Amino acid sequence: MRGLLPFAVLFVAVFGKKTFEGHQVLRIVPKNDVQLHLIKDMEDMTEFELDFWREVRDVATPVDIRVPLHSLQSFKVFLETQDIEYSVTIEDLQMMLDEEQEEMESAARVAKPRNTDSYDYANYHSISDIYSFQDMLVAENPNLVSKVVIGQSFESRPLNVLKFSTGGTNRPAIWIDCGIHAREWITPASGTWFAKKIATDFGGDQALTAILNRMDIYLEIVTNPDGYQYTRDQDRLWRKTRKPNPGSPCVGVDPNRNWDAGFGGPGTSNNPCSQIYRGPRANSESEVKSIVDFVNSNVNFKAFITVHAFSQLLLYPYGFKRTPARDRRELDALARRATTDLTSLFGTRYRFGSIVTTIYQASGGSIDWAYDQGIKYSYAFELRDTGSSGFLLPANQIIPTAQETWLALMAIMDHTNRNSY
Ligand SMILES: [Zn+2]
Repeated sequence: MRGLLPFAVLFVAVFGKKTFEGHQVLRIVPKNDVQLHLIKDMEDMTEFELDFWREVRDVATPVDIRVPLHSLQSFKVFLETQDIEYSVTIEDLQMMLDEEQEEMESAARVAKPRNTDSYDYANYHSISDIYSFQDMLVAENPNLVSKVVIGQSFESRPLNVLKFSTGGTNRPAIWIDCGIHAREWITPASGTWFAKKIATDFGGDQALTAILNRMDIYLEIVTNPDGYQYTRDQDRLWRKTRKPNPGSPCVGVDPNRNWDAGFGGPGTSNNPCSQIYRGPRANSESEVKSIVDFVNSNVNFKAFITVHAFSQLLLYPYGFKRTPARDRRELDALARRATTDLTSLFGTRYRFGSIVTTIYQASGGSIDWAYDQGIKYSYAFELRDTGSSGFLLPANQIIPTAQETWLALMAIMDHTNRNSY
């Protein structure tokens, strides 16, 4: 039996990573309500094994769907018989993944950084690289940055939050999280850049310094570390957590359907094999529960910002219901200002609005929960792009994406600082 072990290890090393040979991403634009409902029904058609990269919204709004090779032909025939037009946005998914992999391998050949100045912000990193980045940043800025471990992931990884504070107790605070959905790599990469930016600009940049003289900033760079590492080692397009679901062969919960805000409502699934499986109950995922406990414990949060990808959107509550948020006018005006600032840098265009009116009804999301806890400035970003690379945003876009997003973050943080007492 013992002799099998090296073979098993070799097997995982050579054959372990999921490949996407022949997979394509198709873009479908529903022309009318009949097509819209047909496309919505496809989400439950397990035989095609479709992976919705952008959810179905309304007539004329494109839907991006990854289609595996084995169902590509039959799915295209199905679309044609239903008279649904489609285009191919990604011809050869594996080719893009190979390019990404090659870039990462060449980046990994460079010696490990000794400090956060020599950290390679223009590449995607492993979870251990990001953990060491956090420790280096804390060591380099002991009077500003500390690390708070708010809990453990299912696979026992620490849930690290960087705290930026100039002192005081129970100060008003801003929450920012990245990487709650594992495959949205641009978000932890941007979060790493934000952390360095805060440490660098404090004391020099007037607006940021004013914020930090009154408020604390908490930044969780990798909110779903198990999922993130799994996208590096096994399945680049993994979205959920990595906790097994008893009675099902499928693993994981969508951690952005797991919050106690309209839990179980529209835009979620009770099927553990679904990408939007909400979990057995609200807060069932420790990655979510740890934030809930932390926010409810003793910290005086005034803003709650979660960073996702992709679609280029800035969203505010609600997602689980159609009732407008009480502060809708202020949230909308601030979203307008933040996206205008973002666009000013490179011309990247964003849309903004409430989740339910801008994308689709989605329940159990974090910003709805945060808003209903009384955290007024609750926003969700969907970073670059609008689908040409989707989750596989090339690494040479990390820094520009982080730079432009920072301007929007600053607009929200500055407004929060001036308007919360
Ligand atoms: Zn997401």
